[in-house]
Amino acid sequence: MTKTVAKAVSTPDAVVLPVAQSEEVFPVHRIYCVGRNYAAHAVEMGHDPDREAPFFFQKNPDNLLVDCPFTYPPLSDDVQHEIELVVGLKSGGSDIAAEEALDCVFGYAVGLDMTRRDLQGEMKRQGRPWEIGKAFEQSAPCSAIFPADRVGHPQAGAIRLSKNGALAQSGDLSQMIWKVSEIISELSRFFLLCPGDLIFTGTPSGVGPVQRGDDLLGEIEGVGVLSLKVQ
Ligand code: MN
Repeated sequence: MTKTVAKAVSTPDAVVLPVAQSEEVFPVHRIYCVGRNYAAHAVEMGHDPDREAPFFFQKNPDNLLVDCPFTYPPLSDDVQHEIELVVGLKSGGSDIAAEEALDCVFGYAVGLDMTRRDLQGEMKRQGRPWEIGKAFEQSAPCSAIFPADRVGHPQAGAIRLSKNGALAQSGDLSQMIWKVSEIISELSRFFLLCPGDLIFTGTPSGVGPVQRGDDLLGEIEGVGVLSLKVQ
């Protein structure tokens, strides 16, 4: 018989995403993010996509924000939106071949990689990690997850973000430098991927600041929408 061990402290509940049109939830293990995965965004950030490959960073699972307004965070005057296709994994492993990587995918969601751009920029200048710019409270708003057995594996389709009804970001999933299968394969060389992992796959060009009172609407063709109020 397993001995019940009393926890020395009680922790917040684990974060889950709703599964669209289902009573099930998707429990979240880790959040990985891809940086500079669309050439036009790399260029707008001052980088040459022909010379620098995309790369990875992480957010914390409890940075997810589901079905709530986004509260403008402290210590920044330049919080920016990055609309991204989010991949949720149902299986994982190490050294996964790109040809088999889509078998690991449970489904897809619409996410925002909210960024304290001023803090990120200062950390870049100092050669320091990005966490204070990227992995803060509520920095990962995300829609429900749409299972791949319903939406397939979108390889192309519009990805866009409107702010107060005006188009701000616009691109196409086909513009991703690393495709979803390649991201999973590459990531699995560095980390042990697990069921419940989410991957934010990078943002198209047009990133920009948000202000309190803004209404954001993210849309990914073939996947879904994410609407978010900034307060
Ligand atoms: Mn991003």
